[in-house]
Amino acid sequence: MTAAVIDGKEAAARLKEGIAKAVGELKSKHGIVPGLATILVGEDPPSQVYVASKQKMAHALGMHSVQHNLPASTSEADLLALVRRLNDDPAIHGILVQMPVPKQIDTFKVITTTSVAKDVDGLHPESAGRLLNGGEALVSCTPLGCLMLLKEAVGDLTGKNAVVVGRSNLVGKPVANLLLNENCTVTIAHSKTKDLPAVCRSADILVAAVGRREMIRGDWIKPGAVVIDVGITRVPNPGGKDKLVGDVAYDEAVKVAGAVTPVPGGVGPMTIVCLMLNTLKACCQQHGISDVPVPTRLPPRA
Ligand code: NDP
Repeated sequence: MTAAVIDGKEAAARLKEGIAKAVGELKSKHGIVPGLATILVGEDPPSQVYVASKQKMAHALGMHSVQHNLPASTSEADLLALVRRLNDDPAIHGILVQMPVPKQIDTFKVITTTSVAKDVDGLHPESAGRLLNGGEALVSCTPLGCLMLLKEAVGDLTGKNAVVVGRSNLVGKPVANLLLNENCTVTIAHSKTKDLPAVCRSADILVAAVGRREMIRGDWIKPGAVVIDVGITRVPNPGGKDKLVGDVAYDEAVKVAGAVTPVPGGVGPMTIVCLMLNTLKACCQQHGISDVPVPTRLPPRA
């Protein structure tokens, strides 16, 4: 058996097209341009790359985008003041503070100062609470991307046994809540889980969000399962760019799974497009607009 490869790059391109169409309609029907503000504190090279690619995609989609680069020494008060200014700026519909922030800044204060309406990273406790209650919420971008890939690969998720390895507020918990809202039977595993291989083997849907290189082996995977690999470990590659490696031993997984996401080229490309989707959604919500085609799933292949 050889697993189907879930091509996140191709899926993300389709979603991007759907968003571009909606952005165009928003402009032509209502004269409104969705606005995204990103804030980077410090000079962490991977964060610089992430923020730059978010800005580039917002521009490519015809959105208004503003990047704030602040020095690593920025005080908490100054960062919170900027977030408050952006909360009040009517041209900005989504605010993303690139994490992690330097030690002198309290991450929770940054998250809770961001207006819930503009919380395109889905990290505000109210956004998380709405998701938990099964209500309308802006959902963290990576979990949203995982769900879209899963719904296309599996179809109806009702009754599937899903195992999510990882319980972070950013990835593991929202993925688990999204799957619960889709009527999966969900198990959340973490570093204290006993006999993790056996837990993983019970999964029809296995989502790995750990950050430990190739931890999940082929014999942890139920034959035919759909595997979503969120993990990214950077492996130094002397003389070249860092290599990105997932949580799943891909070469082993493809021999057992029904479908699997590669790293890179799986969940990663979906994450950034879902940020654009959240900015578009936030913009429509803030203006009470419901007559533009905001994608709710991956648009079909042409
Ligand atoms: P965190 O470090 O916040 O969480 C990792 C989770 O993995 C924790 O819940 C931890 O358990 C669990 N874990 C650690 N070791 C083990 C183990 N041996 N067995 C089982 N569980 C374990 O990471 P994030 O959730 O933020 O990110 C997870 C991965 O996803 C990272 O590699 C990150 O780079 C990647 N990522 C990728 C994105 C993308 O766009 N593709 C976006 C965001 C993240 P415990 O709670 O018990 O400590």
